[in-house]
Amino acid sequence: MSLKLELKNLTFMINSGISSFIQDDPNPIYNNKIINDKTNNYSKINSISDIQTLSELKEFIYNSNVCALKNNAIHSVFSDGNPSSKIMFIGEAPGAEEDKYGKPFVGRAGKLLDKMVASIGLDRDKIYISNVIPWRPPNNRQPTTEEILQCLPFIQRHIEIINPSIIVLLGGTASKALLTTNEGITKLRGTWHQYNSLALSNPVLTRAIFHPAFLLRSPQFKKQTWEDLQEIQKKIS
Ligand code: URA
Repeated sequence: MSLKLELKNLTFMINSGISSFIQDDPNPIYNNKIINDKTNNYSKINSISDIQTLSELKEFIYNSNVCALKNNAIHSVFSDGNPSSKIMFIGEAPGAEEDKYGKPFVGRAGKLLDKMVASIGLDRDKIYISNVIPWRPPNNRQPTTEEILQCLPFIQRHIEIINPSIIVLLGGTASKALLTTNEGITKLRGTWHQYNSLALSNPVLTRAIFHPAFLLRSPQFKKQTWEDLQEIQKKIS
């Protein structure tokens, strides 16, 4: 990048109110440093924005080394459900069962998610499910801000490829990361938001709801979640 262009970009960021950076280096996903060319299958992919299909994205994630969480994980957990669905559910990160089977939401929280989805007439053949983070954090701890930022481009591109009409964000971590806010889930739920991406022609209607794992611990919040699910049902029917 020329000095003139760098200066222009910096001025743009300063004028946009950006005064500090969370990481010292840019995310390598946006340049070609992380490309694993061993298979030669993806030699044409220089940046995540070059990825056009789910299988390319899956392979890219499986080969990526941007996030240390991968080192302790058994599986990279990509997605489940119907890729042609217009409703995409996004959770936080795999837990032990998901790590074991390589599939999102197959543990206790997943069973409750299936019930929540069934309550609005849907099932896994009618929805698409993924997570912000494809690898299980050790002992199911919350992912750090740095880990979220390292993995965020994966789910952003994932959304662009699926191109859903509705996104349902499960819990505070996914909601904050994708709605780019510090507000907690209690404030974010109960209303519609828009998910914006330059690569999508329109903003995507987005609902943040309580995470099923939280509802297992705090069933008193099921009523509010039922109300959110009803609003989602109204939009899809
Ligand atoms: N919790 C999540 O956020 N995602 C999963 O896949 C499982 C549990």
